[in-house]
Amino acid sequence: MKQELTLLDVLQAKVKINEYIKNTPLIRAYNLEKLFNGAQIYLKLENLQHTGSFKIRGVANKMLNLSKKELEKGVTAASSGNHAQAVSYMANKIGTNATIVMPENAPKAKIEGTKEHGANVVLCGFTGEERDYKCNELIETYRYSLIHSHMDPYVIAGHSTVVLEAWEQMNFKMDEIIVPCGSGSLASGAAFTMKQLDKSIKVTGVEPASVPLFTNSLKANKPLTVNMGETIADGLRVSKAENINFNLISNNIDSIETVEEDTIKKAVKEIGLKEKITAEPSACVGLAVLFENKIDTSKDRKICIVISGGNIDASLYSEILAI
Ligand SMILES: *Cc1c(COP(=O)(O)O)cnc(C)c1O
Repeated sequence: MKQELTLLDVLQAKVKINEYIKNTPLIRAYNLEKLFNGAQIYLKLENLQHTGSFKIRGVANKMLNLSKKELEKGVTAASSGNHAQAVSYMANKIGTNATIVMPENAPKAKIEGTKEHGANVVLCGFTGEERDYKCNELIETYRYSLIHSHMDPYVIAGHSTVVLEAWEQMNFKMDEIIVPCGSGSLASGAAFTMKQLDKSIKVTGVEPASVPLFTNSLKANKPLTVNMGETIADGLRVSKAENINFNLISNNIDSIETVEEDTIKKAVKEIGLKEKITAEPSACVGLAVLFENKIDTSKDRKICIVISGGNIDASLYSEILAI
């Protein structure tokens, strides 16, 4: 299996997935800007992407690189939510069947979203290990192809297209790009790709303080497994760092920051009320890190924040807006 990532992989992914994804809007956040010190803040709106998150990018690239024979047998994936929806959607688009293993406590919006596109959903346990075990069982029995959510260069290359697109939309003038970091597939691709394109652009990854996976892994200089604390950012609940993501991040990223739960909620609320954007908690850590004054927001700096998804249960959303 392919293990290395090159800029050519990213450029090929961009061409390959083009007809399956939306070139999502990039907006300037004039109202949020007023809260900071004069930096220009741009938001790349992947909450408006098909299935409500950037995940379709990597999944599309992976599935479009499978053989006809593999597609005839079908695909499987283990996911806590957005990856599941993306696999279900793409399987439907290209005419293959998908069986997705999801945790019993996945948000309702994400389970429903997955079923809606036609995939079989198997609910299994609460941890990644339990889901992986079930997935392997399915692969043994049915010879499905695994669409892994982050341990795959095709997936990483597909995810990387979001920062490439944002860079183009900003006319190649960008001082910093901020992305959320869970398993690190988005952050690893973003960091690698931006450093290939323009080394002067700062790339920052953000994770919840309760799951400091890459903060700790970078300190230890090796991929770690950390204790998983509670976080509202369900897309960032990943306790084990994999080699491929760790290597790309440690070789390319400028900084990894953490944010507190209260700031994540504040970011969900502010982006909703000030910019009229429905974003899920995992997608708002990039704004939260500005609220925690961990980013240089000095005058005229051009900062791009990737708003990675918008799938949030109505009950949780109303709770946050009412804080
Ligand atoms: C998957 C996901 C993330 C985290 O991406 P990783 O590649 O796992 O780091 C962030 N936000 C949303 C909305 C996601 O679906």
